[in-house]
Amino acid sequence: MSSLSAKIQDIFVEPACEKNGRKDAGARKKGCSKPLTPGATAGGCAFDGAKVVLQPITDVAHLVHGPLACEGNSWDNRGTASSGPTLWRTSFTTDLTELDIIMGQSERRLFHALRQIKEAYAPPAIFVYATCVTELIGDDIRAVCKRAAEKFGLPVVPINAPGFVGSKNLGNKLAGEALLDHVIGTVEPDDVGPYDINILGEFNLSGEFWLVKPLLDRLGVRIRACIPGDARYRDVACSHRARAAMLVCSTALINLARKMEERWQIPFFEGSFYGITATSEALRRIAELLVKRGADAQILDRTDTLIAEEEAIAWKRLEAYRPRLEGKRVLINSGGVKSWSLVHALMEIGMEIVGTSVKKSTVEDKERIKQVLNDEHHMFESMAPRELYTMLSEHKADIMLSGGRTQFIALKAKTPWLDINQERHHPYAGYDGMVELVRQIDLAIHNPIWSEVREPAPWEVDPAAEERPSTYTHTETASVAPFAEC
Ligand code: SF4
Repeated sequence: MSSLSAKIQDIFVEPACEKNGRKDAGARKKGCSKPLTPGATAGGCAFDGAKVVLQPITDVAHLVHGPLACEGNSWDNRGTASSGPTLWRTSFTTDLTELDIIMGQSERRLFHALRQIKEAYAPPAIFVYATCVTELIGDDIRAVCKRAAEKFGLPVVPINAPGFVGSKNLGNKLAGEALLDHVIGTVEPDDVGPYDINILGEFNLSGEFWLVKPLLDRLGVRIRACIPGDARYRDVACSHRARAAMLVCSTALINLARKMEERWQIPFFEGSFYGITATSEALRRIAELLVKRGADAQILDRTDTLIAEEEAIAWKRLEAYRPRLEGKRVLINSGGVKSWSLVHALMEIGMEIVGTSVKKSTVEDKERIKQVLNDEHHMFESMAPRELYTMLSEHKADIMLSGGRTQFIALKAKTPWLDINQERHHPYAGYDGMVELVRQIDLAIHNPIWSEVREPAPWEVDPAAEERPSTYTHTETASVAPFAEC
């Protein structure tokens, strides 16, 4: 635990974190999240956070060392996608019971599980996740992993982020530390090139990175590793030879980006692929960084040409939605880093932003939002469910864009809602992703269900209707097709 405590303290003083930089020494020491109270881990424990970050490495076997419920708790909470291997979709757990713990069998069970996985699946690596129970009973997971790696001849990586050490966000960062300690830099690639980049913090939700990758391919930029979305173990292990990096979701893996810069001189910038302007900006900055690291300056012209072409196509496609969406009011409650990109793109097609959360936006993005909205009252850090409900039920917005947690507030207020957070089912990255987002907004707003549900119920129009006997008549079962034939 002592090395884990040191790691956590190290994460708490992350110099690349803008928010951390604004804190005084005392506040910094307390960490990045509020102290946990009973039930507060409902948003995800540190183990959950580590699993979220690492599970999208698709050819690795992810073994959870702990009671069955830990695996159940963290299973499948993001819709990331793989273009090949499916092993990451297989759930492995040592499934410890009281008896294993009382009899001191848990380390043995772990070793046995590692042997089984190696024999049955022969993966390129196995990641072993510590949980509260195994950490509290003092299992030496590092030693078991080391022994198994020697015995079975494959990397066995301990992920030391038991749930009780903190929040999901802390777990994200501990996952980054595990990659730095045990994976990155362990394989030397033999095909290093001047256009190699890493994309960090990209989860490939609903396969959305596949909308961006073709753009980079056209520029001749090779993705050495995308961590973690659709990643392969070997790519992650070789990622220290990239020339530059882009950090997509800064809160999750900022420590990884900063330490890779320190150890392997890989410069990085924070960017986003959400929105047309943001995508163009990201492509430009990738090209600029590569040129600084020795790539041919022609890539800058190629990038400008590609941006001009793609932006023209995207805006033309978006124009088609203008007549249907112009003047419609949007409330953005994502808490994500994408608020600015969304605000800008939606305003461009004539939609009105009645409010946007800026909780995870950078100072620069907040400033941009303030300027385009012309009123900082439309910006909020977070909004209480009651306030959200009031706003929606008073029809102050035509649609809410948010995460799954607030969807029922919108539905209760009979207001269209669209998921733009990690559980979403549609890809929204890049130019095509922005068009898809607008298409989904259009579908949600114009769904005929809303006029139906907003109609008053019969008993609201005529209270006596409730008193009258039901007009429902029983259908003869013989007239219904048998279930098997449906
Ligand atoms: S690691 Fe701990 S907090 Fe997280 S799911 Fe398991 S028991 Fe719960």
